[in-house]
Amino acid sequence: MIKDCKMGQDTKYIVGVDLGGTNIVSLLMNKRGEVLERDARLTLAKEGRERTISQITGSVSAVLEKGRELGISPDSLLGVGIGSPGPLNTKKGVIHFAPNLPGWREVPLVEILTQKLSMPVFLENDANAAALGEWWKGAGRNTSNLVLFTLGTGIGGGIIIDGEVFHGAWDTAAEVGHIIIHEEGLLCNCGTRGCLEAYASATGVVRRTVKAIKEGRETILTDWVQNRLEDITCELVYKAAQKGDKLCSWIVEETARYLGVGIASIVNILNPEVVILAGGMIKAKDLLFKPVREYAKRYALKDAIEGVSIVPAELGDDAGAIGAAATVLKRKGLL
Ligand SMILES: [Zn+2]
Repeated sequence: MIKDCKMGQDTKYIVGVDLGGTNIVSLLMNKRGEVLERDARLTLAKEGRERTISQITGSVSAVLEKGRELGISPDSLLGVGIGSPGPLNTKKGVIHFAPNLPGWREVPLVEILTQKLSMPVFLENDANAAALGEWWKGAGRNTSNLVLFTLGTGIGGGIIIDGEVFHGAWDTAAEVGHIIIHEEGLLCNCGTRGCLEAYASATGVVRRTVKAIKEGRETILTDWVQNRLEDITCELVYKAAQKGDKLCSWIVEETARYLGVGIASIVNILNPEVVILAGGMIKAKDLLFKPVREYAKRYALKDAIEGVSIVPAELGDDAGAIGAAATVLKRKGLL
């Protein structure tokens, strides 16, 4: 936190909010992208929509209150950006549906929050916001074109083209987790088969590992979880691979190959300068990145992949909120 920065009279501030299924993170930032104050609290999604909305306004009010102590007046605020799960409509400011927020259907969040907060509010898809955050202040700074893959329970993504978030015609672009890598393959959460997410998300990694064990493959993991296969996590698979476990090393290699195939496809189409991987899995560092880089190079067009950096995200859990703040500047033509 920057406590001693000089506040010029013409300095403007922004708030970025990352609305997650579990936590809400709010950041008070200046236009240079420095984080001045932070608030994190529970989403309380199970307690219903109204409760979650009051958690959002409470969180925004908390960073504004702290800002006031720094001498930042509410008049100097340009607005609030919200990074939210979707599908949603960024232009209308409506969340159509959010799997992790029960009861959220066709919620006019921008209208509701504009009224409650009495300042301009802008909506962005959470994964797009994370990509914008990494572009502004993270692993993609100083680039114009990037693709973000978030490797979690699913695989999310965001695309920046010529320094702008690519939304597509109706805000469904950048679903990189649903690049199909096997047309008759594993069933995906989206209902179709063979999506990258079904193989290379943390859930996909665990699922393939458990399947191999049930088919008789031996691994140190069964000892580690005392045969409770439901206790196997993606982190444990990578840990076992690090220790040289044969099955897990194979799973890790295969995961890198799937990711390499997905990355190669998108690199061929979009010609990004950088591909950023985010999410818990990047803790595996070289065990993940080294083979992913090799496979992406093997499968992509030579002209497209040469010079592409495949790198870990830098902003961690704050990427979404930083990108949500950047959304305010983008929509106002200030970034
Ligand atoms: Zn899918």
